[in-house]
Amino acid sequence: MATVIDGKAVAQTIRSEIAEEVRALSQKYGKVPGLAVVIVGSRKDSQSYVGMKRKACAELGIKSFDIDLPEQVSESDLISQVHQLNANPDVHGILVQLPLPKHINEEKVLSEISLDKDVDGFHPLNIGKLAMKDRDPLFLPCTPKACMELLSRSGVSIKGKRAVVVGRSNIVGLPVSLLLLKADATVTIVHSRTPQPESIIREADIVIAAAGQPMMIKGSWIKPGAAVIDVGTNAVDDPTKKSGYRLVGDVDFEEASKVAGWITPVPGGVGPMTVTMLLHNTLEGAKRCFEKNH
Ligand code: NDP
Repeated sequence: MATVIDGKAVAQTIRSEIAEEVRALSQKYGKVPGLAVVIVGSRKDSQSYVGMKRKACAELGIKSFDIDLPEQVSESDLISQVHQLNANPDVHGILVQLPLPKHINEEKVLSEISLDKDVDGFHPLNIGKLAMKDRDPLFLPCTPKACMELLSRSGVSIKGKRAVVVGRSNIVGLPVSLLLLKADATVTIVHSRTPQPESIIREADIVIAAAGQPMMIKGSWIKPGAAVIDVGTNAVDDPTKKSGYRLVGDVDFEEASKVAGWITPVPGGVGPMTVTMLLHNTLEGAKRCFEKNH
């Protein structure tokens, strides 16, 4: 049976480490890290993610700057908000909650965020540096960073190992592949046009599943002893639940946990780590800023 990686517990440990560093910064510089969380409109899922992020800031002593804009806000007004936050010395990280309403060009808005405040790590320059040898981005995107942290804190070795990433999105699949490559894994990316993904996944010492396809990866696709990080978060109908649904990953946990060496559950695996990595990025941004201006 696989070791189940408890993302909640790892996240809690990292949060305590962050809180400790925030206290130390406050003593040394008389300042704390600041994170601006910008939300446009009132989508329920976005409101809930933003609420979680703001609450986590408060718990760790990070100052949160709450920018709530109406659904109809114009692209130029949103960009001018971003510019104000870029110029605010108390803000060390800027997060614009996605998706934005259709009349706003996401790419344009994200590329206006100052590079040294890009705590989501989505700025094309940060992603570009991630893709280049011997270059280090200022920030790593949160979910990919969460996957790497779960692997390293579980003692999974990466160097020289065969890693297969399922999915090639800008926010998960592609950047996590680049991170694994930087960590000296031999990386293959499987996507929706890949024939017979199971034959490729079966060769993997490390599987990162980020396809958004409920339980598509079966136990028989997993190499015995492999480390399986399941990013997928899919709601499936479940009449036995009060809500009428439950969350499952991209991996059939029941089957795969009998074969894998390590596996993350859904929920309780990568999910709790993602917000924690955002807070960690904010801390890093603040530290760089305090050190530079000291
Ligand atoms: P996207 O929909 O943007 O990308 C999905 C990727 O999976 C695409 O590259 C697609 O290929 C590929 N794909 C789709 N179907 C298959 C298939 N049958 N076989 C192989 N590859 C396939 O999703 P995201 O990357 O944004 O998210 C992926 C999952 O991770 C979702 O379930 C999402 O909810 C979850 N997630 C969880 C987070 C967390 O913190 N826990 C954070 C972010 C996402 P193609 O490019 O060819 O279309």
